[in-house]
Amino acid sequence: MKKFDVAIAGGGLIGGSIALELARAGLRIGLFDRQEPGQEASWAGAGILSPAPESAAMISLVPLAKASMAIYPEFVRMVEEISGQNVGYRPKGTLQAIFTPDARELSTVIALHHGLGLKAEPLRAEDARKLEPALSEELEAAVLRPEEASVDNRALTQAVLEAALRTGVQFFAGCGVEGISRAGGRCVGLKLNNEKIEAEWTIIAAGCFSANIEGVAAYAPVRPAKGQMIALRADDLNIEKVLWSEKIYLVPRNDGRILAGATVEYTGFEKGLTAGGLEKILAGTLELSPGLANARVEETWAGLRPDSPDHLPILGPTELDGLLIATGHFRGGILLTPITAQLVREWVTQQRASVDWDRFSPMRFQSASAHRAPA
Ligand SMILES: Cc1cc2nc3c(=O)[nH]c(=O)nc-3n(C[C@H](O)[C@H](O)[C@H](O)COP(=O)(O)OP(=O)(O)OC[C@H]3O[C@@H](n4cnc5c(N)ncnc54)[C@H](O)[C@@H]3O)c2cc1C
Repeated sequence: MKKFDVAIAGGGLIGGSIALELARAGLRIGLFDRQEPGQEASWAGAGILSPAPESAAMISLVPLAKASMAIYPEFVRMVEEISGQNVGYRPKGTLQAIFTPDARELSTVIALHHGLGLKAEPLRAEDARKLEPALSEELEAAVLRPEEASVDNRALTQAVLEAALRTGVQFFAGCGVEGISRAGGRCVGLKLNNEKIEAEWTIIAAGCFSANIEGVAAYAPVRPAKGQMIALRADDLNIEKVLWSEKIYLVPRNDGRILAGATVEYTGFEKGLTAGGLEKILAGTLELSPGLANARVEETWAGLRPDSPDHLPILGPTELDGLLIATGHFRGGILLTPITAQLVREWVTQQRASVDWDRFSPMRFQSASAHRAPA
Protein backbone atom coordinates (compact mmCIF):
# COMPACT_ATOMS: atom_id res chain seq x y z
CA MET A 1 0.00 0.00 0.00
CA LYS A 2 1.28 3.50 -0.85
CA LYS A 3 1.76 5.72 2.20
CA PHE A 4 2.11 9.51 2.37
CA ASP A 5 1.97 12.26 4.93
CA VAL A 6 -0.64 13.94 2.70
CA ALA A 7 -2.76 12.49 -0.13
CA ILE A 8 -4.43 15.03 -2.41
CA ALA A 9 -7.34 14.34 -4.78
CA GLY A 10 -7.18 16.72 -7.76
CA GLY A 11 -4.21 18.28 -9.56
CA GLY A 12 -5.61 21.64 -10.64
CA LEU A 13 -4.15 24.95 -9.49
CA ILE A 14 -5.61 24.44 -6.01
CA GLY A 15 -4.43 20.84 -5.45
CA GLY A 16 -1.10 21.54 -7.16
CA SER A 17 -0.39 24.63 -5.05
CA ILE A 18 -1.31 22.87 -1.83
CA ALA A 19 1.01 20.01 -2.83
CA LEU A 20 3.84 22.46 -3.54
CA GLU A 21 3.34 24.36 -0.30
CA LEU A 22 3.26 21.18 1.83
CA ALA A 23 6.23 19.62 0.04
CA ARG A 24 8.20 22.81 0.75
CA ALA A 25 7.31 22.27 4.43
CA GLY A 26 9.05 18.89 4.21
CA LEU A 27 6.02 16.56 3.94
CA ARG A 28 5.71 13.52 1.65
CA ILE A 29 2.90 14.24 -0.80
CA GLY A 30 0.98 12.03 -3.22
CA LEU A 31 -1.12 13.96 -5.78
CA PHE A 32 -3.82 11.95 -7.58
CA ASP A 33 -5.63 13.10 -10.71
CA ARG A 34 -8.02 11.12 -12.84
CA GLN A 35 -6.39 12.56 -15.98
CA GLU A 36 -3.31 14.67 -16.75
CA PRO A 37 -3.28 17.34 -14.01
CA GLY A 38 -4.11 20.94 -14.86
CA GLN A 39 -6.60 20.40 -17.71
CA GLU A 40 -9.85 21.61 -16.13
CA ALA A 41 -11.00 24.97 -14.68
CA SER A 42 -7.44 26.09 -13.92
CA TRP A 43 -6.64 25.77 -17.63
CA ALA A 44 -9.93 27.34 -18.77
CA GLY A 45 -9.99 30.47 -16.59
CA ALA A 46 -9.26 34.08 -17.50
CA GLY A 47 -6.72 34.76 -14.75
CA ILE A 48 -8.14 38.03 -13.42
CA LEU A 49 -6.91 38.83 -9.91
CA SER A 50 -9.58 41.10 -8.46
CA PRO A 51 -10.76 41.12 -4.85
CA ALA A 52 -13.74 43.35 -5.76
CA PRO A 53 -17.03 41.51 -5.06
CA GLU A 54 -19.16 40.67 -8.11
CA SER A 55 -22.34 40.62 -6.01
CA ALA A 56 -23.52 41.39 -2.48
CA ALA A 57 -23.26 37.68 -1.64
CA MET A 58 -19.52 37.78 -2.34
CA ILE A 59 -18.72 40.60 0.11
CA SER A 60 -17.76 38.14 2.85
CA LEU A 61 -15.03 36.86 0.53
CA VAL A 62 -13.23 40.21 0.30
CA PRO A 63 -10.89 39.79 3.34
CA LEU A 64 -9.71 36.39 2.06
CA ALA A 65 -9.32 37.78 -1.47
CA LYS A 66 -7.31 40.75 -0.17
CA ALA A 67 -5.08 38.41 1.83
CA SER A 68 -4.42 36.36 -1.31
CA MET A 69 -3.77 39.47 -3.41
CA ALA A 70 -1.20 40.63 -0.84
CA ILE A 71 0.87 37.46 -1.10
CA TYR A 72 0.47 36.99 -4.88
CA PRO A 73 3.74 38.70 -5.92
CA GLU A 74 5.74 36.50 -3.53
CA PHE A 75 3.83 33.39 -4.65
CA VAL A 76 4.62 34.18 -8.31
CA ARG A 77 8.29 34.81 -7.49
CA MET A 78 8.56 31.48 -5.66
CA VAL A 79 6.78 29.48 -8.38
CA GLU A 80 8.84 31.09 -11.17
CA GLU A 81 12.08 30.50 -9.31
CA ILE A 82 11.45 26.82 -8.55
CA SER A 83 9.86 25.95 -11.92
CA GLY A 84 12.10 28.12 -14.12
CA GLN A 85 8.93 29.19 -15.97
CA ASN A 86 7.30 32.60 -16.48
CA VAL A 87 3.64 32.84 -15.43
CA GLY A 88 2.63 36.09 -17.15
CA TYR A 89 1.80 38.07 -14.01
CA ARG A 90 0.56 41.57 -14.96
CA PRO A 91 0.05 43.94 -11.99
CA LYS A 92 -1.33 46.70 -14.25
CA GLY A 93 -4.71 47.37 -12.69
CA THR A 94 -8.19 47.11 -14.14
CA LEU A 95 -10.68 49.58 -15.63
CA GLN A 96 -14.40 49.20 -15.14
CA ALA A 97 -16.36 50.91 -17.92
CA ILE A 98 -19.62 52.66 -17.14
CA PHE A 99 -22.08 53.23 -19.96
CA THR A 100 -25.04 54.74 -18.08
CA PRO A 101 -25.19 58.56 -17.93
CA ASP A 102 -26.40 58.35 -14.30
CA ALA A 103 -23.56 59.80 -12.17
CA ARG A 104 -24.91 57.95 -9.14
CA GLU A 105 -23.69 54.64 -10.54
CA LEU A 106 -20.10 55.87 -10.51
CA SER A 107 -20.30 57.19 -6.95
CA THR A 108 -21.99 53.98 -5.74
CA VAL A 109 -19.23 51.81 -7.22
CA ILE A 110 -16.51 54.02 -5.72
CA ALA A 111 -18.19 54.09 -2.28
CA LEU A 112 -18.61 50.30 -2.28
CA HIS A 113 -14.93 49.77 -3.01
CA HIS A 114 -13.73 52.32 -0.45
CA GLY A 115 -16.04 50.82 2.18
CA LEU A 116 -14.30 47.49 1.65
CA GLY A 117 -10.83 49.02 1.80
CA LEU A 118 -10.25 48.56 -1.96
CA LYS A 119 -8.56 51.26 -4.04
CA ALA A 120 -10.84 52.71 -6.75
CA GLU A 121 -10.60 56.04 -8.60
CA PRO A 122 -13.35 57.68 -10.67
CA LEU A 123 -12.29 58.65 -14.19
CA ARG A 124 -13.93 60.83 -16.82
CA ALA A 125 -14.51 59.02 -20.11
CA GLU A 126 -11.80 61.00 -21.93
CA ASP A 127 -9.25 60.22 -19.20
CA ALA A 128 -10.15 56.54 -19.30
CA ARG A 129 -9.67 56.56 -23.09
CA LYS A 130 -6.29 58.23 -22.68
CA LEU A 131 -5.25 55.25 -20.55
CA GLU A 132 -6.90 52.70 -22.83
CA PRO A 133 -7.57 54.09 -26.32
CA ALA A 134 -9.33 50.84 -27.27
CA LEU A 135 -12.31 51.79 -25.08
CA SER A 136 -15.57 52.75 -26.80
CA GLU A 137 -16.47 56.38 -27.52
CA GLU A 138 -19.88 55.61 -25.96
CA LEU A 139 -18.30 55.35 -22.51
CA GLU A 140 -19.76 57.72 -19.88
CA ALA A 141 -17.16 57.20 -17.13
CA ALA A 142 -14.87 54.57 -15.67
CA VAL A 143 -13.43 53.27 -12.42
CA LEU A 144 -9.71 52.60 -12.19
CA ARG A 145 -8.73 49.83 -9.76
CA PRO A 146 -4.96 50.27 -9.74
CA GLU A 147 -4.11 47.41 -7.37
CA GLU A 148 -5.69 44.63 -9.41
CA ALA A 149 -3.77 42.32 -11.74
CA SER A 150 -3.97 39.29 -13.98
CA VAL A 151 -1.93 36.15 -14.52
CA ASP A 152 -1.68 33.64 -17.37
CA ASN A 153 -3.46 30.85 -15.50
CA ARG A 154 -2.45 28.16 -18.01
CA ALA A 155 1.21 29.10 -17.54
CA LEU A 156 0.77 29.43 -13.78
CA THR A 157 -0.86 26.00 -13.49
CA GLN A 158 1.92 24.32 -15.49
CA ALA A 159 4.58 26.16 -13.48
CA VAL A 160 3.00 25.20 -10.16
CA LEU A 161 2.84 21.53 -11.21
CA GLU A 162 6.48 21.66 -12.39
CA ALA A 163 7.55 23.34 -9.14
CA ALA A 164 5.68 20.70 -7.13
CA LEU A 165 7.41 17.92 -9.08
CA ARG A 166 10.82 19.53 -8.51
CA THR A 167 10.04 19.83 -4.79
CA GLY A 168 9.39 16.10 -4.51
CA VAL A 169 5.62 15.73 -4.92
CA GLN A 170 4.74 12.30 -6.35
CA PHE A 171 2.19 12.59 -9.18
CA PHE A 172 -0.28 9.87 -10.11
CA ALA A 173 -1.98 10.90 -13.37
CA GLY A 174 -4.86 8.80 -14.64
CA CYS A 175 -5.68 7.72 -11.06
CA GLY A 176 -9.26 8.72 -10.32
CA VAL A 177 -10.13 8.89 -6.64
CA GLU A 178 -13.33 6.96 -5.89
CA GLY A 179 -13.75 7.70 -2.20
CA ILE A 180 -12.17 8.51 1.13
CA SER A 181 -11.04 5.75 3.52
CA ARG A 182 -12.24 5.81 7.13
CA ALA A 183 -11.03 3.90 10.16
CA GLY A 184 -11.70 4.53 13.85
CA GLY A 185 -13.78 7.64 13.15
CA ARG A 186 -11.11 9.36 11.13
CA CYS A 187 -10.11 9.69 7.51
CA VAL A 188 -7.05 7.58 6.76
CA GLY A 189 -6.56 8.15 3.05
CA LEU A 190 -8.06 7.72 -0.41
CA LYS A 191 -9.68 4.84 -2.27
CA LEU A 192 -8.72 4.33 -5.91
CA ASN A 193 -10.24 1.79 -8.26
CA ASN A 194 -8.10 -1.11 -7.09
CA GLU A 195 -5.88 0.37 -4.42
CA LYS A 196 -6.02 2.13 -1.07
CA ILE A 197 -3.72 5.06 -0.34
CA GLU A 198 -2.80 5.60 3.28
CA ALA A 199 -2.20 9.15 4.54
CA GLU A 200 -2.10 11.09 7.77
CA TRP A 201 -3.94 13.93 6.00
CA THR A 202 -6.33 13.70 3.07
CA ILE A 203 -7.21 16.77 1.00
CA ILE A 204 -10.05 16.97 -1.50
CA ALA A 205 -9.28 19.51 -4.24
CA ALA A 206 -11.05 17.97 -7.22
CA GLY A 207 -12.78 21.17 -8.32
CA CYS A 208 -16.40 20.85 -9.47
CA PHE A 209 -16.00 17.05 -9.46
CA SER A 210 -15.31 16.87 -5.71
CA ALA A 211 -18.88 15.90 -4.75
CA ASN A 212 -18.62 12.80 -6.97
CA ILE A 213 -15.99 11.35 -4.64
CA GLU A 214 -17.74 8.97 -2.22
CA GLY A 215 -18.01 10.39 1.30
CA VAL A 216 -17.34 14.00 0.22
CA ALA A 217 -20.68 15.43 -1.00
CA ALA A 218 -21.92 16.34 2.51
CA TYR A 219 -18.87 18.55 3.02
CA ALA A 220 -18.44 19.83 -0.53
CA PRO A 221 -21.79 19.94 -2.38
CA VAL A 222 -20.27 21.62 -5.42
CA ARG A 223 -21.69 21.80 -8.92
CA PRO A 224 -20.20 22.90 -12.25
CA ALA A 225 -20.80 26.43 -13.56
CA LYS A 226 -19.79 26.46 -17.22
CA GLY A 227 -17.94 29.44 -18.63
CA GLN A 228 -17.39 29.96 -22.36
CA MET A 229 -14.37 32.01 -23.45
CA ILE A 230 -12.90 33.47 -26.64
CA ALA A 231 -9.27 34.43 -27.39
CA LEU A 232 -8.80 37.28 -29.87
CA ARG A 233 -5.75 38.80 -31.53
CA ALA A 234 -5.69 42.30 -33.00
CA ASP A 235 -2.64 43.62 -34.86
CA ASP A 236 -3.59 47.29 -34.62
CA LEU A 237 -4.98 47.63 -31.12
CA ASN A 238 -3.30 47.43 -27.73
CA ILE A 239 -4.92 46.84 -24.33
CA GLU A 240 -2.84 47.11 -21.17
CA LYS A 241 -5.26 46.68 -18.27
CA VAL A 242 -8.07 44.25 -17.64
CA LEU A 243 -11.23 45.94 -18.95
CA TRP A 244 -14.65 45.28 -17.45
CA SER A 245 -18.16 46.18 -18.48
CA GLU A 246 -21.40 44.98 -16.92
CA LYS A 247 -21.55 42.25 -19.57
CA ILE A 248 -18.02 40.97 -20.17
CA TYR A 249 -14.33 41.35 -19.41
CA LEU A 250 -11.25 41.61 -21.64
CA VAL A 251 -7.94 40.27 -20.35
CA PRO A 252 -4.72 41.06 -22.26
CA ARG A 253 -1.88 38.54 -22.18
CA ASN A 254 1.85 39.21 -22.59
CA ASP A 255 1.81 37.37 -25.93
CA GLY A 256 -0.72 39.82 -27.42
CA ARG A 257 -3.79 37.62 -27.05
CA ILE A 258 -6.91 39.24 -25.61
CA LEU A 259 -9.21 36.92 -23.71
CA ALA A 260 -12.91 37.74 -23.72
CA GLY A 261 -15.36 36.11 -21.35
CA ALA A 262 -17.33 34.65 -19.88
CA THR A 263 -20.73 33.03 -19.58
CA VAL A 264 -21.98 31.49 -16.32
CA GLU A 265 -24.23 28.52 -17.12
CA TYR A 266 -25.59 25.61 -15.12
CA THR A 267 -25.77 22.83 -17.71
CA GLY A 268 -24.15 19.94 -15.85
CA PHE A 269 -20.70 18.59 -16.64
CA GLU A 270 -20.81 19.26 -20.42
CA LYS A 271 -18.38 21.79 -21.89
CA GLY A 272 -20.05 22.49 -25.24
CA LEU A 273 -19.78 25.89 -26.92
CA THR A 274 -23.03 27.52 -28.01
CA ALA A 275 -23.93 30.16 -30.60
CA GLY A 276 -25.82 32.10 -27.92
CA GLY A 277 -22.93 32.00 -25.45
CA LEU A 278 -20.32 33.12 -27.96
CA GLU A 279 -22.67 35.79 -29.36
CA LYS A 280 -23.12 37.27 -25.87
CA ILE A 281 -19.36 37.50 -25.35
CA LEU A 282 -18.72 38.99 -28.78
CA ALA A 283 -21.55 41.53 -28.50
CA GLY A 284 -20.24 42.67 -25.10
CA THR A 285 -16.69 42.79 -26.50
CA LEU A 286 -17.62 45.07 -29.40
CA GLU A 287 -19.69 47.33 -27.15
CA LEU A 288 -16.69 47.77 -24.83
CA SER A 289 -14.06 47.99 -27.55
CA PRO A 290 -15.50 48.43 -31.08
CA GLY A 291 -11.99 48.41 -32.57
CA LEU A 292 -11.86 44.68 -31.92
CA ALA A 293 -14.31 44.09 -34.77
CA ASN A 294 -11.42 43.09 -37.04
CA ALA A 295 -9.65 40.98 -34.43
CA ARG A 296 -8.98 37.36 -35.35
CA VAL A 297 -10.71 34.68 -33.27
CA GLU A 298 -7.80 32.43 -32.24
CA GLU A 299 -9.48 30.01 -29.88
CA THR A 300 -12.78 29.26 -28.19
CA TRP A 301 -13.27 26.98 -25.18
CA ALA A 302 -15.34 26.33 -22.09
CA GLY A 303 -14.50 25.22 -18.58
CA LEU A 304 -16.33 24.23 -15.41
CA ARG A 305 -16.00 26.40 -12.31
CA PRO A 306 -16.52 24.71 -8.93
CA ASP A 307 -19.57 26.50 -7.49
CA SER A 308 -21.00 25.95 -3.99
CA PRO A 309 -24.59 26.53 -2.76
CA ASP A 310 -23.66 29.98 -1.38
CA HIS A 311 -21.04 30.66 -4.09
CA LEU A 312 -18.31 30.86 -1.43
CA PRO A 313 -15.25 28.61 -1.24
CA ILE A 314 -15.25 25.48 0.91
CA LEU A 315 -12.06 25.45 2.91
CA GLY A 316 -10.78 23.76 6.01
CA PRO A 317 -11.11 20.74 8.28
CA THR A 318 -14.19 18.54 8.57
CA GLU A 319 -15.66 16.58 11.48
CA LEU A 320 -13.57 13.63 10.24
CA ASP A 321 -10.09 14.00 11.67
CA GLY A 322 -7.51 14.06 8.91
CA LEU A 323 -9.90 15.21 6.15
CA LEU A 324 -9.63 18.71 4.66
CA ILE A 325 -11.58 20.26 1.81
CA ALA A 326 -10.26 22.93 -0.58
CA THR A 327 -12.75 23.58 -3.35
CA GLY A 328 -15.79 25.66 -4.33
CA HIS A 329 -13.64 28.61 -5.41
CA PHE A 330 -16.17 29.36 -8.17
CA ARG A 331 -15.06 32.49 -10.12
CA GLY A 332 -12.06 33.27 -7.91
CA GLY A 333 -9.92 30.14 -7.67
CA ILE A 334 -6.96 31.60 -9.50
CA LEU A 335 -7.00 34.66 -7.23
CA LEU A 336 -7.50 32.55 -4.10
CA THR A 337 -4.78 29.97 -4.85
CA PRO A 338 -1.94 31.42 -2.73
CA ILE A 339 -4.04 31.97 0.39
CA THR A 340 -5.71 28.56 0.05
CA ALA A 341 -2.34 26.82 -0.12
CA GLN A 342 -1.00 28.86 2.80
CA LEU A 343 -3.99 28.19 5.07
CA VAL A 344 -4.02 24.45 4.32
CA ARG A 345 -0.28 24.27 5.03
CA GLU A 346 -0.75 26.11 8.34
CA TRP A 347 -3.55 23.75 9.36
CA VAL A 348 -1.68 20.57 8.44
CA THR A 349 1.59 21.62 10.06
CA GLN A 350 0.36 23.69 13.04
CA GLN A 351 -3.43 23.16 13.31
CA ARG A 352 -4.03 26.89 13.09
CA ALA A 353 -4.98 29.35 10.37
CA SER A 354 -3.58 32.89 10.23
CA VAL A 355 -6.65 34.24 8.41
CA ASP A 356 -10.16 33.62 9.74
CA TRP A 357 -11.61 30.90 7.50
CA ASP A 358 -14.54 29.72 9.69
CA ARG A 359 -17.00 31.37 7.26
CA PHE A 360 -15.83 28.93 4.60
CA SER A 361 -15.96 25.77 6.73
CA PRO A 362 -17.05 22.53 5.00
CA MET A 363 -19.25 21.94 8.08
CA ARG A 364 -21.64 24.76 7.11
CA PHE A 365 -23.64 22.41 4.86
CA GLN A 366 -24.36 19.94 7.64
CA SER A 367 -27.71 21.44 8.75
CA ALA A 368 -30.79 19.60 7.46
CA SER A 369 -31.74 22.27 4.94
CA ALA A 370 -28.26 22.48 3.53
CA HIS A 371 -28.20 18.70 2.97
CA ARG A 372 -30.39 19.09 -0.11
CA ALA A 373 -28.58 18.58 -3.38
CA PRO A 374 -27.83 21.94 -5.01
CA ALA A 375 -30.57 23.07 -7.42
C1 LIG B 1 -14.28 30.45 -17.99
C2 LIG B 1 -13.69 30.60 -16.62
C3 LIG B 1 -13.13 31.80 -16.26
C4 LIG B 1 -12.55 31.96 -15.00
N1 LIG B 1 -11.93 33.14 -14.69
C5 LIG B 1 -11.32 33.28 -13.49
C6 LIG B 1 -10.62 34.48 -13.19
O1 LIG B 1 -10.53 35.38 -14.03
N2 LIG B 1 -10.03 34.61 -11.97
C7 LIG B 1 -10.12 33.61 -11.02
O2 LIG B 1 -9.57 33.79 -9.94
N3 LIG B 1 -10.77 32.46 -11.29
C8 LIG B 1 -11.38 32.27 -12.49
N4 LIG B 1 -12.04 31.12 -12.79
C9 LIG B 1 -12.21 30.11 -11.72
C10 LIG B 1 -10.98 29.25 -11.53
O3 LIG B 1 -10.53 28.81 -12.80
C11 LIG B 1 -11.34 28.06 -10.64
O4 LIG B 1 -11.95 28.51 -9.45
C12 LIG B 1 -10.07 27.28 -10.27
O5 LIG B 1 -9.31 27.00 -11.42
C13 LIG B 1 -10.43 25.98 -9.58
O6 LIG B 1 -9.25 25.23 -9.43
P1 LIG B 1 -9.31 23.75 -8.90
O7 LIG B 1 -7.93 23.25 -8.83
O8 LIG B 1 -10.16 23.69 -7.67
O9 LIG B 1 -10.17 22.95 -10.00
P2 LIG B 1 -9.75 22.37 -11.41
O10 LIG B 1 -8.77 23.21 -12.11
O11 LIG B 1 -11.02 22.05 -12.11
O12 LIG B 1 -8.99 21.03 -11.05
C14 LIG B 1 -9.65 19.91 -10.51
C15 LIG B 1 -8.78 18.70 -10.80
O13 LIG B 1 -9.37 17.55 -10.15
C16 LIG B 1 -9.26 16.45 -11.02
N5 LIG B 1 -10.27 15.47 -10.63
C17 LIG B 1 -11.61 15.51 -10.82
N6 LIG B 1 -12.20 14.42 -10.28
C18 LIG B 1 -11.20 13.67 -9.75
C19 LIG B 1 -11.18 12.43 -9.06
N7 LIG B 1 -12.29 11.72 -8.80
N8 LIG B 1 -9.97 11.93 -8.67
C20 LIG B 1 -8.83 12.61 -8.93
N9 LIG B 1 -8.80 13.80 -9.59
C21 LIG B 1 -9.98 14.31 -9.97
C22 LIG B 1 -9.50 17.05 -12.41
O14 LIG B 1 -9.01 16.19 -13.41
C23 LIG B 1 -8.72 18.35 -12.29
O15 LIG B 1 -7.36 18.20 -12.68
C24 LIG B 1 -12.57 30.89 -14.05
C25 LIG B 1 -13.10 29.67 -14.44
C26 LIG B 1 -13.63 29.51 -15.71
C27 LIG B 1 -14.16 28.16 -16.12
